[in-house]
Amino acid sequence: MTPGKKIPIFVDGVVLNGPQTDVKAGEKFVEEACRLIMEEVVLKATDVNEKVCEWQPPEQLRQLLDLEMRDTGESQDKLLKLCQDVIHFSVKTNHPRFFNQLYAGLDYYSLAARIITEALNPSIYTYEVSPVFLLVEEAVLKKMIECVGWKEGDGIFNPGGSVSNMCAMNLARYRHCPDIKEKGLSGLPRLILFTSAECHYSMKKAASFLGIGTQNVYFVETDGRGKMIPEDLEKQIWQARQEGAVPFLVCATSGTTVLGAFDPLDEIAEVCERHGLWLHVDASWGGSALVSRKHRRLLHGIHRADSVAWNPHKMLMAGIQCSALLVKDKSDLLKKCYSAKATYLFQQDKFYDVSYDTGDKSIQCSRRPDAFKFWMTWKALGTSGLEERVNRAFALSRYLVDEIKKREGFKLLMEPEYTNVCFWYIPPSLREMEEGPEFWRKLSLRTVQFICRGFLLERNADSHFALRNWKTFPSVLA
Ligand SMILES: *Cc1c(COP(=O)(O)O)cnc(C)c1O
Repeated sequence: MTPGKKIPIFVDGVVLNGPQTDVKAGEKFVEEACRLIMEEVVLKATDVNEKVCEWQPPEQLRQLLDLEMRDTGESQDKLLKLCQDVIHFSVKTNHPRFFNQLYAGLDYYSLAARIITEALNPSIYTYEVSPVFLLVEEAVLKKMIECVGWKEGDGIFNPGGSVSNMCAMNLARYRHCPDIKEKGLSGLPRLILFTSAECHYSMKKAASFLGIGTQNVYFVETDGRGKMIPEDLEKQIWQARQEGAVPFLVCATSGTTVLGAFDPLDEIAEVCERHGLWLHVDASWGGSALVSRKHRRLLHGIHRADSVAWNPHKMLMAGIQCSALLVKDKSDLLKKCYSAKATYLFQQDKFYDVSYDTGDKSIQCSRRPDAFKFWMTWKALGTSGLEERVNRAFALSRYLVDEIKKREGFKLLMEPEYTNVCFWYIPPSLREMEEGPEFWRKLSLRTVQFICRGFLLERNADSHFALRNWKTFPSVLA
Protein backbone atom coordinates (compact mmCIF):
# COMPACT_ATOMS: atom_id res chain seq x y z
CA MET A 1 0.00 0.00 0.00
CA THR A 2 1.37 3.43 -0.88
CA PRO A 3 1.79 5.70 2.10
CA GLY A 4 -0.77 8.45 2.29
CA LYS A 5 -3.41 6.39 0.56
CA LYS A 6 -5.63 5.27 3.38
CA ILE A 7 -8.39 2.78 2.99
CA PRO A 8 -11.48 4.66 4.13
CA ILE A 9 -13.19 3.21 7.19
CA PHE A 10 -16.92 3.71 6.90
CA VAL A 11 -19.18 3.40 9.95
CA ASP A 12 -22.81 4.46 9.75
CA GLY A 13 -22.02 6.45 6.60
CA VAL A 14 -19.21 8.37 8.32
CA VAL A 15 -15.61 8.18 7.07
CA LEU A 16 -13.76 7.76 10.34
CA ASN A 17 -10.25 8.29 9.00
CA GLY A 18 -11.18 11.20 6.77
CA PRO A 19 -10.61 14.85 7.65
CA GLN A 20 -12.96 16.21 10.32
CA THR A 21 -12.09 19.85 10.49
CA ASP A 22 -10.08 22.06 8.24
CA VAL A 23 -6.99 22.37 10.43
CA LYS A 24 -5.32 25.06 8.35
CA ALA A 25 -8.43 27.25 8.36
CA GLY A 26 -8.84 26.71 12.10
CA GLU A 27 -5.25 27.73 12.82
CA LYS A 28 -5.58 30.82 10.66
CA PHE A 29 -8.80 31.78 12.41
CA VAL A 30 -7.22 31.51 15.86
CA GLU A 31 -4.29 33.60 14.67
CA GLU A 32 -6.52 36.35 13.32
CA ALA A 33 -8.78 36.30 16.37
CA CYS A 34 -5.69 36.69 18.58
CA ARG A 35 -4.61 39.71 16.55
CA LEU A 36 -8.07 41.19 16.99
CA ILE A 37 -7.95 40.60 20.75
CA MET A 38 -4.57 42.28 20.92
CA GLU A 39 -5.68 45.31 18.89
CA GLU A 40 -9.22 45.80 20.08
CA VAL A 41 -8.98 44.75 23.71
CA VAL A 42 -5.45 44.80 25.07
CA LEU A 43 -3.94 47.79 23.26
CA LYS A 44 -7.02 49.91 23.86
CA ALA A 45 -7.23 49.00 27.53
CA THR A 46 -5.47 52.11 28.77
CA ASP A 47 -7.00 54.58 26.35
CA VAL A 48 -9.37 56.89 28.25
CA ASN A 49 -10.67 58.23 24.95
CA GLU A 50 -12.18 54.88 24.04
CA LYS A 51 -15.71 54.19 25.21
CA VAL A 52 -16.24 51.90 28.19
CA CYS A 53 -19.24 50.48 26.42
CA GLU A 54 -21.18 50.99 23.21
CA TRP A 55 -24.45 50.73 25.09
CA GLN A 56 -27.57 49.40 23.35
CA PRO A 57 -30.83 48.21 24.87
CA PRO A 58 -31.51 44.48 24.40
CA GLU A 59 -33.97 44.85 21.48
CA GLN A 60 -31.53 46.97 19.48
CA LEU A 61 -28.51 44.87 20.41
CA ARG A 62 -30.32 41.76 19.26
CA GLN A 63 -30.78 43.42 15.86
CA LEU A 64 -27.20 44.62 15.65
CA LEU A 65 -25.68 41.23 16.40
CA ASP A 66 -26.25 38.28 14.12
CA LEU A 67 -27.29 35.82 16.82
CA GLU A 68 -29.13 33.24 14.72
CA MET A 69 -27.50 29.81 14.43
CA ARG A 70 -28.16 28.41 10.96
CA ASP A 71 -27.97 25.06 9.19
CA THR A 72 -24.76 25.93 7.43
CA GLY A 73 -21.69 27.46 8.98
CA GLU A 74 -20.53 31.01 8.32
CA SER A 75 -17.41 32.07 6.42
CA GLN A 76 -14.22 32.90 8.28
CA ASP A 77 -14.56 36.56 7.39
CA LYS A 78 -18.07 36.64 8.78
CA LEU A 79 -16.85 34.93 11.97
CA LEU A 80 -14.12 37.49 12.44
CA LYS A 81 -16.66 40.25 11.95
CA LEU A 82 -18.78 38.60 14.65
CA CYS A 83 -15.79 38.52 17.01
CA GLN A 84 -15.29 42.21 16.30
CA ASP A 85 -18.96 42.95 17.06
CA VAL A 86 -18.80 41.00 20.29
CA ILE A 87 -15.82 43.04 21.43
CA HIS A 88 -17.33 46.29 20.17
CA PHE A 89 -20.59 45.94 22.08
CA SER A 90 -19.08 44.43 25.22
CA VAL A 91 -18.14 46.34 28.33
CA LYS A 92 -14.41 47.06 28.48
CA THR A 93 -13.82 46.00 32.05
CA ASN A 94 -10.15 46.96 31.71
CA HIS A 95 -10.98 50.57 30.86
CA PRO A 96 -9.76 53.17 33.38
CA ARG A 97 -13.32 54.47 33.70
CA PHE A 98 -14.94 51.11 34.29
CA PHE A 99 -16.44 51.09 37.76
CA ASN A 100 -18.12 48.00 39.09
CA GLN A 101 -19.21 46.56 42.41
CA LEU A 102 -16.66 43.81 42.40
CA TYR A 103 -13.70 44.24 40.12
CA ALA A 104 -11.91 46.32 37.52
CA GLY A 105 -8.74 46.52 35.50
CA LEU A 106 -6.51 44.30 33.44
CA ASP A 107 -3.54 42.42 34.75
CA TYR A 108 -1.37 41.48 31.78
CA TYR A 109 0.26 38.49 33.44
CA SER A 110 -3.01 37.04 34.56
CA LEU A 111 -4.35 37.56 31.05
CA ALA A 112 -1.40 35.74 29.46
CA ALA A 113 -1.92 32.89 31.93
CA ARG A 114 -5.58 32.73 31.00
CA ILE A 115 -4.74 32.55 27.32
CA ILE A 116 -2.34 29.68 28.02
CA THR A 117 -4.95 27.74 29.98
CA GLU A 118 -7.68 28.45 27.43
CA ALA A 119 -5.40 27.02 24.74
CA LEU A 120 -4.29 23.98 26.76
CA ASN A 121 -7.78 23.38 28.16
CA PRO A 122 -6.73 21.34 31.19
CA SER A 123 -9.04 20.02 33.86
CA ILE A 124 -7.46 19.83 37.24
CA TYR A 125 -9.08 16.82 38.82
CA THR A 126 -6.11 14.50 38.52
CA TYR A 127 -2.34 14.88 38.36
CA GLU A 128 -2.05 12.83 35.20
CA VAL A 129 -4.09 15.32 33.18
CA SER A 130 -2.83 18.54 34.85
CA PRO A 131 0.55 17.91 36.48
CA VAL A 132 1.79 21.50 36.30
CA PHE A 133 -1.45 23.17 37.26
CA LEU A 134 -1.96 20.98 40.31
CA LEU A 135 1.50 21.82 41.60
CA VAL A 136 0.81 25.49 40.90
CA GLU A 137 -2.42 25.29 42.87
CA GLU A 138 -0.58 23.63 45.74
CA ALA A 139 2.08 26.37 45.73
CA VAL A 140 -0.45 29.21 45.64
CA LEU A 141 -2.59 27.69 48.40
CA LYS A 142 0.51 27.22 50.54
CA LYS A 143 1.43 30.87 50.15
CA MET A 144 -2.12 32.07 50.86
CA ILE A 145 -2.21 29.87 53.95
CA GLU A 146 1.02 31.53 55.11
CA CYS A 147 -0.61 34.93 54.60
CA VAL A 148 -3.46 33.87 56.87
CA GLY A 149 -0.87 32.96 59.47
CA TRP A 150 -1.29 29.18 59.65
CA LYS A 151 1.75 26.91 59.62
CA GLU A 152 -0.09 24.43 57.46
CA GLY A 153 -3.53 23.82 56.12
CA ASP A 154 -5.53 22.67 53.16
CA GLY A 155 -7.60 24.36 50.50
CA ILE A 156 -9.17 24.33 47.10
CA PHE A 157 -9.94 26.88 44.41
CA ASN A 158 -13.64 27.38 43.70
CA PRO A 159 -15.66 29.25 41.09
CA GLY A 160 -16.08 32.39 43.21
CA GLY A 161 -16.45 33.52 46.79
CA SER A 162 -20.10 32.52 46.97
CA VAL A 163 -19.15 28.93 46.25
CA SER A 164 -16.19 29.09 48.65
CA ASN A 165 -18.56 30.28 51.39
CA MET A 166 -21.02 27.53 50.60
CA CYS A 167 -18.30 24.89 50.66
CA ALA A 168 -17.10 26.21 54.01
CA MET A 169 -20.63 26.07 55.40
CA ASN A 170 -21.02 22.50 54.25
CA LEU A 171 -17.61 21.58 55.67
CA ALA A 172 -18.46 23.10 59.06
CA ARG A 173 -21.71 21.16 59.11
CA TYR A 174 -19.92 17.96 58.15
CA ARG A 175 -17.47 18.44 61.01
CA HIS A 176 -20.41 19.01 63.34
CA CYS A 177 -22.29 15.91 62.18
CA PRO A 178 -20.23 13.65 59.86
CA ASP A 179 -23.16 11.25 59.48
CA ILE A 180 -24.88 13.78 57.26
CA LYS A 181 -22.84 12.67 54.29
CA GLU A 182 -24.61 9.31 54.17
CA LYS A 183 -27.77 9.88 56.14
CA GLY A 184 -28.79 13.30 54.85
CA LEU A 185 -30.75 15.98 56.63
CA SER A 186 -33.74 14.11 58.01
CA GLY A 187 -32.18 13.02 61.28
CA LEU A 188 -30.76 16.42 62.17
CA PRO A 189 -31.89 18.99 64.71
CA ARG A 190 -32.45 22.58 63.56
CA LEU A 191 -28.93 23.86 62.80
CA ILE A 192 -28.16 27.56 63.17
CA LEU A 193 -25.42 29.72 61.72
CA PHE A 194 -24.59 33.28 62.65
CA THR A 195 -23.38 36.06 60.45
CA SER A 196 -23.60 39.83 60.49
CA ALA A 197 -26.39 41.91 59.06
CA GLU A 198 -23.82 43.32 56.61
CA CYS A 199 -22.72 39.92 55.29
CA HIS A 200 -22.68 39.00 51.62
CA TYR A 201 -25.92 37.58 50.21
CA SER A 202 -24.18 34.30 49.40
CA MET A 203 -24.70 33.33 53.06
CA LYS A 204 -28.44 33.17 52.53
CA LYS A 205 -28.04 31.40 49.22
CA ALA A 206 -25.75 28.81 50.72
CA ALA A 207 -28.07 28.21 53.67
CA SER A 208 -30.97 27.67 51.33
CA PHE A 209 -28.99 25.49 48.92
CA LEU A 210 -27.64 23.30 51.71
CA GLY A 211 -31.05 22.72 53.25
CA ILE A 212 -30.24 24.72 56.36
CA GLY A 213 -32.91 27.28 55.52
CA THR A 214 -32.59 31.04 55.44
CA GLN A 215 -34.60 31.37 58.66
CA ASN A 216 -31.81 29.55 60.41
CA VAL A 217 -29.30 32.20 59.48
CA TYR A 218 -29.25 34.48 62.52
CA PHE A 219 -28.14 37.98 61.66
CA VAL A 220 -25.99 39.54 64.33
CA GLU A 221 -26.26 43.27 64.86
CA THR A 222 -23.53 45.56 63.56
CA ASP A 223 -22.18 48.80 64.93
CA GLY A 224 -22.26 52.15 63.13
CA ARG A 225 -19.34 51.10 60.95
CA GLY A 226 -20.94 47.82 59.90
CA LYS A 227 -18.87 45.53 62.15
CA MET A 228 -20.40 42.54 63.90
CA ILE A 229 -21.04 43.16 67.61
CA PRO A 230 -19.55 40.16 69.49
CA GLU A 231 -21.84 40.66 72.52
CA ASP A 232 -24.88 40.35 70.29
CA LEU A 233 -23.38 37.24 68.70
CA GLU A 234 -23.07 35.61 72.09
CA LYS A 235 -26.58 36.68 73.01
CA GLN A 236 -28.01 35.14 69.85
CA ILE A 237 -26.10 31.89 70.41
CA TRP A 238 -27.73 31.56 73.85
CA GLN A 239 -31.07 32.42 72.35
CA ALA A 240 -30.76 29.73 69.68
CA ARG A 241 -29.89 27.19 72.36
CA GLN A 242 -32.90 28.22 74.38
CA GLU A 243 -35.06 27.62 71.32
CA GLY A 244 -33.74 24.05 71.27
CA ALA A 245 -31.78 24.69 68.07
CA VAL A 246 -28.14 23.77 67.52
CA PRO A 247 -25.57 26.46 66.64
CA PHE A 248 -22.71 25.13 64.51
CA LEU A 249 -21.07 28.00 62.63
CA VAL A 250 -20.18 31.67 62.76
CA CYS A 251 -19.41 33.45 59.48
CA ALA A 252 -17.50 36.65 60.08
CA THR A 253 -16.75 39.06 57.25
CA SER A 254 -13.43 40.74 56.54
CA GLY A 255 -14.28 43.53 54.15
CA THR A 256 -18.05 43.71 53.85
CA THR A 257 -19.31 44.17 50.35
CA VAL A 258 -20.82 47.63 50.71
CA LEU A 259 -19.19 49.41 53.64
CA GLY A 260 -15.88 47.52 53.60
CA ALA A 261 -16.15 46.74 57.31
CA PHE A 262 -13.95 44.26 59.11
CA ASP A 263 -15.55 42.21 61.87
CA PRO A 264 -13.50 42.02 65.10
CA LEU A 265 -12.06 38.56 64.54
CA ASP A 266 -10.24 38.15 67.84
CA GLU A 267 -13.35 38.76 69.90
CA ILE A 268 -15.48 36.63 67.58
CA ALA A 269 -12.91 33.83 67.82
CA GLU A 270 -13.20 33.98 71.63
CA VAL A 271 -16.94 33.49 71.38
CA CYS A 272 -16.53 30.62 68.92
CA GLU A 273 -13.99 28.91 71.17
CA ARG A 274 -16.26 29.27 74.20
CA HIS A 275 -19.14 27.67 72.33
CA GLY A 276 -17.21 25.17 70.21
CA LEU A 277 -18.36 26.72 66.93
CA TRP A 278 -16.60 26.66 63.58
CA LEU A 279 -15.37 30.11 62.60
CA HIS A 280 -15.45 30.86 58.89
CA VAL A 281 -14.11 34.21 57.70
CA ASP A 282 -15.52 35.53 54.45
CA ALA A 283 -12.50 37.52 53.33
CA SER A 284 -13.56 37.33 49.68
CA TRP A 285 -13.16 41.07 49.40
CA GLY A 286 -10.90 42.03 52.31
CA GLY A 287 -8.48 39.09 52.18
CA SER A 288 -6.20 40.97 49.83
CA ALA A 289 -5.22 43.33 52.65
CA LEU A 290 -3.31 40.35 54.07
CA VAL A 291 -0.48 40.92 51.60
CA SER A 292 0.06 44.46 52.87
CA ARG A 293 2.18 44.80 55.99
CA LYS A 294 0.64 48.21 56.47
CA HIS A 295 -2.99 47.10 56.33
CA ARG A 296 -3.12 43.45 57.36
CA ARG A 297 -3.93 44.45 60.92
CA LEU A 298 -7.51 44.92 59.65
CA LEU A 299 -7.75 41.13 59.72
CA HIS A 300 -6.10 40.71 63.09
CA GLY A 301 -7.07 37.34 64.55
CA ILE A 302 -7.77 35.68 61.20
CA HIS A 303 -5.31 32.89 62.10
CA ARG A 304 -7.88 31.75 64.66
CA ALA A 305 -10.42 30.97 61.94
CA ASP A 306 -11.18 27.39 60.87
CA SER A 307 -11.70 28.42 57.27
CA VAL A 308 -11.21 31.49 55.09
CA ALA A 309 -12.62 32.46 51.70
CA TRP A 310 -10.43 34.87 49.72
CA ASN A 311 -10.91 36.11 46.14
CA PRO A 312 -7.71 37.15 44.34
CA HIS A 313 -9.99 38.08 41.43
CA LYS A 314 -11.08 41.22 43.26
CA MET A 315 -8.41 43.62 44.47
CA LEU A 316 -5.46 41.56 43.28
CA MET A 317 -6.87 41.47 39.76
CA ALA A 318 -6.46 37.80 38.91
CA GLY A 319 -8.99 37.13 36.15
CA ILE A 320 -12.47 36.00 37.02
CA GLN A 321 -12.91 33.51 38.55
CA CYS A 322 -10.24 33.05 41.15
CA SER A 323 -11.34 32.24 44.69
CA ALA A 324 -9.72 30.06 47.31
CA LEU A 325 -11.24 28.32 50.27
CA LEU A 326 -8.53 27.81 52.88
CA VAL A 327 -9.00 25.34 55.71
CA LYS A 328 -6.95 25.05 58.90
CA ASP A 329 -7.78 21.41 59.58
CA LYS A 330 -4.99 18.89 59.13
CA SER A 331 -7.05 15.71 59.21
CA ASP A 332 -8.03 15.70 55.53
CA LEU A 333 -11.48 17.00 56.39
CA LEU A 334 -12.03 18.51 52.93
CA LYS A 335 -11.42 15.17 51.27
CA LYS A 336 -13.54 13.27 53.78
CA CYS A 337 -16.38 15.72 53.37
CA TYR A 338 -16.38 16.02 49.59
CA SER A 339 -14.91 12.82 48.14
CA ALA A 340 -17.05 10.40 46.18
CA LYS A 341 -14.05 8.19 45.25
CA ALA A 342 -15.15 7.65 41.65
CA THR A 343 -13.15 4.66 40.55
CA TYR A 344 -13.02 5.63 36.87
CA LEU A 345 -11.11 8.82 37.72
CA PHE A 346 -9.48 8.52 41.11
CA GLN A 347 -7.95 5.05 40.91
CA GLN A 348 -5.86 4.38 44.01
CA ASP A 349 -3.21 2.25 42.24
CA LYS A 350 -1.73 4.80 39.84
CA PHE A 351 2.02 4.97 39.24
CA TYR A 352 2.36 8.29 41.13
CA ASP A 353 1.39 9.69 44.54
CA VAL A 354 -2.39 9.89 44.23
CA SER A 355 -2.62 12.50 46.97
CA TYR A 356 -1.98 14.91 44.08
CA ASP A 357 -5.34 13.96 42.60
CA THR A 358 -6.93 16.73 44.61
CA GLY A 359 -10.08 16.98 42.52
CA ASP A 360 -12.07 14.86 44.96
CA LYS A 361 -11.80 17.65 47.55
CA SER A 362 -14.04 19.74 45.35
CA ILE A 363 -17.76 19.65 44.63
CA GLN A 364 -16.82 19.92 40.96
CA CYS A 365 -15.65 17.26 38.56
CA SER A 366 -14.10 19.24 35.69
CA ARG A 367 -12.31 22.19 37.21
CA ARG A 368 -10.38 25.13 35.79
CA PRO A 369 -6.82 25.92 36.87
CA ASP A 370 -7.80 29.22 38.48
CA ALA A 371 -4.73 29.39 40.72
CA PHE A 372 -2.47 29.63 37.67
CA LYS A 373 -3.43 33.18 36.65
CA PHE A 374 -2.86 34.41 40.19
CA TRP A 375 0.45 32.53 40.35
CA MET A 376 1.59 34.26 37.14
CA THR A 377 0.77 37.69 38.56
CA TRP A 378 2.44 36.86 41.87
CA LYS A 379 5.53 35.64 39.99
CA ALA A 380 5.60 38.81 37.88
CA LEU A 381 5.06 41.32 40.68
CA GLY A 382 6.45 39.48 43.65
CA THR A 383 4.80 39.74 47.04
CA SER A 384 6.06 43.32 47.27
CA GLY A 385 4.34 44.19 43.99
CA LEU A 386 1.05 42.75 45.26
CA GLU A 387 1.54 44.75 48.43
CA GLU A 388 2.06 47.91 46.38
CA ARG A 389 -1.13 47.20 44.47
CA VAL A 390 -3.07 46.98 47.73
CA ASN A 391 -1.42 50.04 49.24
CA ARG A 392 -2.18 51.98 46.08
CA ALA A 393 -5.85 51.05 46.32
CA PHE A 394 -5.90 52.40 49.86
CA ALA A 395 -4.12 55.59 48.77
CA LEU A 396 -6.56 56.10 45.89
CA SER A 397 -9.54 55.79 48.16
CA ARG A 398 -7.90 58.24 50.57
CA TYR A 399 -7.51 60.65 47.66
CA LEU A 400 -11.15 60.23 46.68
CA VAL A 401 -12.25 60.88 50.26
CA ASP A 402 -10.28 64.12 50.32
CA GLU A 403 -11.77 65.20 46.99
CA ILE A 404 -15.29 64.42 48.21
CA LYS A 405 -14.72 66.52 51.30
CA LYS A 406 -13.52 69.44 49.20
CA ARG A 407 -16.35 69.39 46.72
CA GLU A 408 -19.71 70.95 46.94
CA GLY A 409 -22.59 68.53 46.55
CA PHE A 410 -20.80 65.47 47.85
CA LYS A 411 -21.40 64.02 51.27
CA LEU A 412 -19.17 61.35 52.75
CA LEU A 413 -21.07 58.64 54.60
CA MET A 414 -18.16 57.74 56.88
CA GLU A 415 -14.38 57.65 56.94
CA PRO A 416 -13.52 54.41 55.12
CA GLU A 417 -11.71 51.60 56.85
CA TYR A 418 -10.94 49.81 53.61
CA THR A 419 -11.13 50.99 50.00
CA ASN A 420 -14.92 51.27 49.85
CA VAL A 421 -15.75 54.94 49.74
CA CYS A 422 -19.40 55.49 50.49
CA PHE A 423 -20.81 58.87 49.61
CA TRP A 424 -23.86 60.72 48.42
CA TYR A 425 -24.06 63.02 45.48
CA ILE A 426 -26.49 65.80 46.32
CA PRO A 427 -27.91 67.40 43.15
CA PRO A 428 -28.05 71.23 43.11
CA SER A 429 -31.84 71.24 43.52
CA LEU A 430 -31.53 69.56 46.93
CA ARG A 431 -28.51 71.38 48.31
CA GLU A 432 -30.48 74.04 50.10
CA MET A 433 -33.00 71.60 51.51
CA GLU A 434 -33.04 70.50 55.14
CA GLU A 435 -32.06 66.85 55.78
CA GLY A 436 -35.55 65.63 56.65
CA PRO A 437 -37.53 62.63 55.34
CA GLU A 438 -38.48 64.56 52.20
CA PHE A 439 -34.80 65.27 51.48
CA TRP A 440 -33.85 61.60 51.76
CA ARG A 441 -36.81 60.48 49.67
CA LYS A 442 -35.86 62.87 46.87
CA LEU A 443 -32.20 62.02 47.14
CA SER A 444 -32.91 58.30 46.79
CA LEU A 445 -34.89 58.97 43.62
CA ARG A 446 -31.99 60.93 42.18
CA THR A 447 -29.45 58.29 43.07
CA VAL A 448 -31.33 55.68 41.13
CA GLN A 449 -31.15 57.94 38.09
CA PHE A 450 -27.44 58.16 38.60
CA ILE A 451 -27.05 54.42 38.36
CA CYS A 452 -28.97 54.40 35.10
CA ARG A 453 -26.37 56.69 33.61
CA GLY A 454 -23.97 54.00 34.63
CA PHE A 455 -21.03 55.63 36.21
CA LEU A 456 -21.63 55.07 39.83
CA LEU A 457 -21.05 52.18 41.55
CA GLU A 458 -22.89 50.40 44.21
CA ARG A 459 -26.13 50.78 45.98
CA ASN A 460 -27.28 49.18 49.18
CA ALA A 461 -30.60 49.42 50.90
CA ASP A 462 -29.77 52.95 51.99
CA SER A 463 -28.68 54.03 48.52
CA HIS A 464 -25.10 54.96 48.96
CA PHE A 465 -22.19 54.11 46.85
CA ALA A 466 -18.88 52.37 47.00
CA LEU A 467 -16.15 52.95 44.49
CA ARG A 468 -14.05 50.14 43.21
CA ASN A 469 -11.52 50.71 40.52
CA TRP A 470 -8.12 50.58 42.11
CA LYS A 471 -6.29 50.96 38.81
CA THR A 472 -7.87 54.29 38.14
CA PHE A 473 -5.67 57.34 38.13
CA PRO A 474 -6.51 60.44 40.09
CA SER A 475 -7.05 62.29 36.78
CA VAL A 476 -9.97 60.01 36.07
CA LEU A 477 -11.40 60.50 39.53
CA ALA A 478 -11.04 64.24 39.29
C1 LIG B 1 -17.75 39.52 46.32
C2 LIG B 1 -18.05 38.94 47.62
C3 LIG B 1 -18.47 37.60 47.71
C4 LIG B 1 -18.83 36.77 46.50
O1 LIG B 1 -17.77 36.46 45.69
P1 LIG B 1 -18.05 35.96 44.19
O2 LIG B 1 -16.72 35.55 43.70
O3 LIG B 1 -18.61 37.14 43.46
O4 LIG B 1 -19.03 34.84 44.27
C5 LIG B 1 -18.62 37.04 48.96
N1 LIG B 1 -18.39 37.78 50.06
C6 LIG B 1 -18.01 39.07 50.01
C7 LIG B 1 -17.77 39.81 51.27
C8 LIG B 1 -17.84 39.70 48.78
O5 LIG B 1 -17.50 41.00 48.72
